[in-house]
Amino acid sequence: MPRRSARHAAPDRLTEFPLIRDLARRFGRTGSSVLRGIGDDTAVLEGAKGEVMLVTTDLLAEGIHFDLSTATCDEVGYKAAVANLSDIAAMGGTPRYVLVSLAIPASRSRSDVLRLYEGMMRACRPHGVELIGGDTSASRRDLFINLTLLGTAKPREVLLRRGARAGDLLYVTGTLGDSLAGLQLLTGFAGKGGGTRALVITRRDRDYLINRHLRPEARLRMGQLLATKHLATAAIDVSDGLSGDLGHLCREGGLGAEVEVSALPLSPALRRYAEARRMTAEALALTGGEDYELLFAVPPGRATALEALARSARCPVRKIGRFRPKAFGMKMVSADRALRPLPVTSYRHFNGRQDRA
Ligand code: ADP
Ligand code: MG
Repeated sequence: MPRRSARHAAPDRLTEFPLIRDLARRFGRTGSSVLRGIGDDTAVLEGAKGEVMLVTTDLLAEGIHFDLSTATCDEVGYKAAVANLSDIAAMGGTPRYVLVSLAIPASRSRSDVLRLYEGMMRACRPHGVELIGGDTSASRRDLFINLTLLGTAKPREVLLRRGARAGDLLYVTGTLGDSLAGLQLLTGFAGKGGGTRALVITRRDRDYLINRHLRPEARLRMGQLLATKHLATAAIDVSDGLSGDLGHLCREGGLGAEVEVSALPLSPALRRYAEARRMTAEALALTGGEDYELLFAVPPGRATALEALARSARCPVRKIGRFRPKAFGMKMVSADRALRPLPVTSYRHFNGRQDRA
C-alpha cells in the first residue's frame, strides 16, 4: 500500500523498490506452480485439484515478540517462519508459499533486512516453501514483520482444534519448557524468581536450551502423518504454552481434560536447569510457550498405531493425559495423585501484564 510519507522517510540505503528487486532476485525464485511471483499486482498460483488451501498469518512486533538485543535479525526471521510453519503442521498440511510484509525503522539497514530473509528462507527452503510477495513500509520506531503462509491439504485430512472426544488420549511431541528456559537464560532470568544468584549449569545445557528457543523446528512431518493416517482427532501447536493451548483444544471440542504432571516430557537439560534455579521443571513445561511441539488427541484404539508410527518417523511422542467431559474442567494430576485445577498461565496480549512464568 503506498504511503508517500512512509516511503520517503526510509533511509537512502533502504529504498523500497531497489530493496524489493533485490529480495526478489535473492529469495524469490519459484517453481512451476507459481505462474507469477514477486513483481506484479498479485501473485498467481496454480490451483491445486482436490486440495484445500490453508492460510495463516502472524504479526511480530519488536519489543513484544522479539528483542533485537537478544536475537539477531537472522534468528528473528527464522523463528517468524517456524511459527507459521508450525501452524500448518498443526493442521496436518504441506506449507507451500510465503508472503512477507515489513515495516522497517530507520535504525535498520539493508543488510539487516537481507539477514532477516536469510533466516526466514533457511526455515522455509527445506520444506520447499517459496516466497511469492509481500509489502514494504517505513516505520517510526520499531520493526514489524508479518508473514502469511499458504499451505495445502486434502479436504478429509485437515486436523482441526475441534474434533477430540471425551476418553481420547492427550499426546505431545518432543519435550516442553525448553524454549522458556532458553529465553530466561538469554534475558538473564528477568522473571519471577529471577535474581542475581549465580546459576550453575553446563555450557552444553545452556546452549541446548537457548538453541531450542532460537532455532525451534516445526513438526511438519508428524502433523502430516497424524492427519493422513487419521491417528489424531484434533491438534494444536504449543506456541502459547501447554495449559493455554490445551485450553483451546478443550474449548473448541466442548471438553475438559486432565494432565499427568509426572508424564510431561522434560529434557535432561531442562531438569538440570530447573534444579539449579530451585524451580520445578514441570512448572516450566506447563507454562512455557514457543516449543512448537504438537499437542493432539488420539482415540485409545489408535494409540498403539500412533506410537509405532512415531517410532518409525523418529518423532518422540508422549501420552500426557486424557480428555474428559466438559464438566470435569481442566485439571492436573500431581505425583501424589491429587487432582488440582490446571493453572492457565500462558501468554496473552493486552493483559496489562504478561502472564508468562
Ligand atoms: P503494491 O503497490 O501493490 O503494494 P508493491 O510495489 O508494494 O505493490 O510490490 C511489488 C511487488 O513486490 C509485489 O509482487 C509484492 O508482493 C512484492 N513485495 C513488496 N514488498 C515485498 C517484501 N518485503 N518481500 C517480498 N515481496 C515484496
Ligand atoms: Mg506495496
